[in-house]
Amino acid sequence: MDYPGNLIVVAAPSGAGKSSLVKALLELDSHVHPSISHTTRAPRGQEKHGREYFFASESEFDAMVQGNAFVEWAHVHGNRYGTSKKAIEERIAQGSDVILEIDFQGALQIKQAFANAVLVFILPPSWEELRSRLERRGEDSADVIEVRLKNAATEMAEVSKFDFVIINELFERALFDLKAVVHAQRLKYAAQRRARADTFQSLNIT
Ligand code: GDP
Ligand code: ADP
Ligand code: 5GP
Repeated sequence: MDYPGNLIVVAAPSGAGKSSLVKALLELDSHVHPSISHTTRAPRGQEKHGREYFFASESEFDAMVQGNAFVEWAHVHGNRYGTSKKAIEERIAQGSDVILEIDFQGALQIKQAFANAVLVFILPPSWEELRSRLERRGEDSADVIEVRLKNAATEMAEVSKFDFVIINELFERALFDLKAVVHAQRLKYAAQRRARADTFQSLNIT
């Protein structure tokens, strides 16, 4: 199905700066909306139900899987995460862009369901920097950080399946790059044909 809004899917190993970049983009561009995922992970410090995630019990998550409520879901770092159809379809049908911050397995599933989705992979500048960002963030225990670093190698091995790669070394530069990807989607023929129908008409382009 071809929707007027774009789906932008951002994946990265934990700590690469995905959430910070997406948050900054959302503050700058009111036409982009976040997809709020469901997760079985416990909320971190300031996280609020319905803002960062919909926090679900294992049985609530099971019921959604059974009820075919997810476009994609995956096991990530020992928890389950999923994108509900509700989180994206209404918005893209209305012509808004929706950004998904999900793991690489989910990103590839989204591409299967929505061929026009654009997949962006955020890389850290080095292993040392990835570790120090996870430590500096101070949200995860030492054990959790080790699991996330171990998983990072597997995740980064999937980068070739993505459309775009952004290396988050200088934050402002990486944000500029992410804005450029979003902007480029809006310049695609089908999007321009829809958004600027009057101009096409006045130019007698049928
Ligand atoms: P390079 O030659 O590939 O390194 O690319 P440039 O450094 O010439 O950058 C390409 C474009 O990105 C230029 O229009 C720059 O002004 C812009 N740019 C680079 N870094 C930043 C940044 O941190 N913030 C913003 N807003 N624009 C940037
Ligand atoms: P992710 O969502 O990918 O797990 P976060 O956005 O939480 O990552 O970023 C991890 C940590 O790194 C945060 O403390 C964030 O402030 C920091 N960070 C993000 N981007 C940069 C950057 N370019 N330079 C330095 N620190 C960064
Ligand atoms: P965190 O617990 O740090 O918020 O997220 C852990 C991982 O789960 C990240 O890689 C994040 O992208 C991923 N994730 C978050 N939401 C979803 C989702 O809806 N689906 C999938 N597949 N992964 C998700």
